[in-house]
Amino acid sequence: MDLVKAMEQFPDQEACIEHLEGIRWGEKPQCPKCEGLDVVRKNERGLGRIGRWCCNDCGASFTD
Ligand SMILES: [Zn+2]
Repeated sequence: MDLVKAMEQFPDQEACIEHLEGIRWGEKPQCPKCEGLDVVRKNERGLGRIGRWCCNDCGASFTD
């Protein structure tokens, strides 16, 4: 996939990231540390952390 074209295709960066995450994970984001599925999106606009996730099982935060 051409990332630039993907960015142009969506109204904002977050929508684009959600699309890319959908490709990677389907509907199930997963913790890379403990492989837990109990993860929540941390939506911290303005801090350069769009797309970060936090695991409720082990407390890890990750972006992919
Ligand atoms: Zn975890």
